[in-house]
Amino acid sequence: YVSVVLFTADLRLYDHPPLRAALSGRRQVVPLFVRDPGVAAAGFAAPNRLAFLADCLRDLDAGLRERGGRLVVRSGDVVEAVCKVAAESDADEVHMAAGVSAYAQARERRLRRALEAEGRRLHVHDSVVTAVPPGAVTPASSDHFAVFTPYFRQWSGQRLRDVLAAPRSVRVPAGVGSEELPSRAALSGLSPGLAEGGEAMGRKRLTAWLRSGVAGYADRHDDLAGDATSRLSPHLHFGTLSPVELVHRARGAAGPGGEAFVRQVAWRDFHHQVLAARPGAATTDYRTKHDRWRSERTARDDIRAWREGRTGYPVVDAAMRQLLHEGWMHNRARLLTASFLAKTLYVDWRIGARHFLDLLVDGDMADNQLNWQWVAGTGTDTRPNRVLNPVTQARRHDPDGAYVRRWVPELRGVAGGAVHEPWKLPAPDRAALGAYPDPIVDLADGLARFRRARSRG
Ligand code: FAD
Repeated sequence: YVSVVLFTADLRLYDHPPLRAALSGRRQVVPLFVRDPGVAAAGFAAPNRLAFLADCLRDLDAGLRERGGRLVVRSGDVVEAVCKVAAESDADEVHMAAGVSAYAQARERRLRRALEAEGRRLHVHDSVVTAVPPGAVTPASSDHFAVFTPYFRQWSGQRLRDVLAAPRSVRVPAGVGSEELPSRAALSGLSPGLAEGGEAMGRKRLTAWLRSGVAGYADRHDDLAGDATSRLSPHLHFGTLSPVELVHRARGAAGPGGEAFVRQVAWRDFHHQVLAARPGAATTDYRTKHDRWRSERTARDDIRAWREGRTGYPVVDAAMRQLLHEGWMHNRARLLTASFLAKTLYVDWRIGARHFLDLLVDGDMADNQLNWQWVAGTGTDTRPNRVLNPVTQARRHDPDGAYVRRWVPELRGVAGGAVHEPWKLPAPDRAALGAYPDPIVDLADGLARFRRARSRG
């Protein structure tokens, strides 16, 4: 007997329920990845993520080869490609992980229909992409939680399944052809400091994090210059690490660091269960509708300055330049740059979310869109009118200014926390800053505009 395993956002061999199920009864398996042009057509194929994906596929193939198998890569509509491979290999079943986005849900429905029409079965596995499956915990009166704290209480009480070992051997039937694996070398427009993908890399990072990072997480996670978070987000996005394994192992790391870290990982499940229940929330306001955003044309120069890291607010500019350079940004920096765009500049959150998705190596439909909504006050924040002041944020989370000096070379000569308010420097010192811009907006004006717009509903 032959099974096909369709890999999607689960590019790993460790703790992989679909692969484990497909191999049971000593079956042969076709490990398949489909490069679906639908993903690119939806604007989701950003170069940084394609590069990380290419690393992941190569590493997955290498891992399979060590076990006697190989990865089969095909291009085209995912449903047609899976059916074709199933027919070529005479497979009677296909295994895959459950997904949450509108795209993933539609893919699953279409695939089930097409396979069943040919007499084959589709098995969809939970707890592969998230630790707790969407819908596994719900409040009494709804199909999902709209507020994190009660969600987290129930989430914490769930018993997670045991972690599965990686398979020792994978037998792939002969004669199933594969395209060449994609390679990052063939891509252009990549962020120069982009991280390397792949399961081996993810596991290495996880081990190092559990050994020497997580213990300090509760105290240091908001320290911008300290860069003391796990940077596991792209590995969770592409599934090179299992969220179930991550939670089990982080819980084993005693102390407040482990607890705080697990709570943060639960935020990821939280956003996934919102999107699974309301797939439209990727683009439409989730809870409170706002339609008085400044038009893209009026705000054009401000949007460009924000994207390029030239707003005149050093911590915002540092963060936006980190995003351009690494395809990644610290969570605190994401919060304050998103608040600056959506609330201080009063620009539609979708414009900011799009820019993040164009660059973020961990760019994710659930986590990006719903975090943007949270910040913009249209989503799940229970205090939707809070506005983060970038100067206060900078003083609190980059007190010495080291983060700003790392990313904004024009300001490297300014010592200490004074770097956060260059407009307050004596005139000769300011003149020495060269091309560094003046603030594009007065914070008090921005706040007044925000309050006016929101009070009109
Ligand atoms: P750590 O602090 O080490 O946290 C561990 C893991 O927990 C992360 O890898 C992530 O999977 C999860 N996590 C932490 N915070 C959040 C959160 N607020 N929401 C959901 N999951 C979380 N995260 C993404 O993975 N993809 C995105 O596209 C994304 N876009 C964001 C956009 C905005 C405007 C904001 C405010 C946050 C966004 N986040 C996104 C959440 C968070 O900023 C990143 O997950 C985090 O910065 C990744 O770094 P890390 O792995 O070092 O995190």
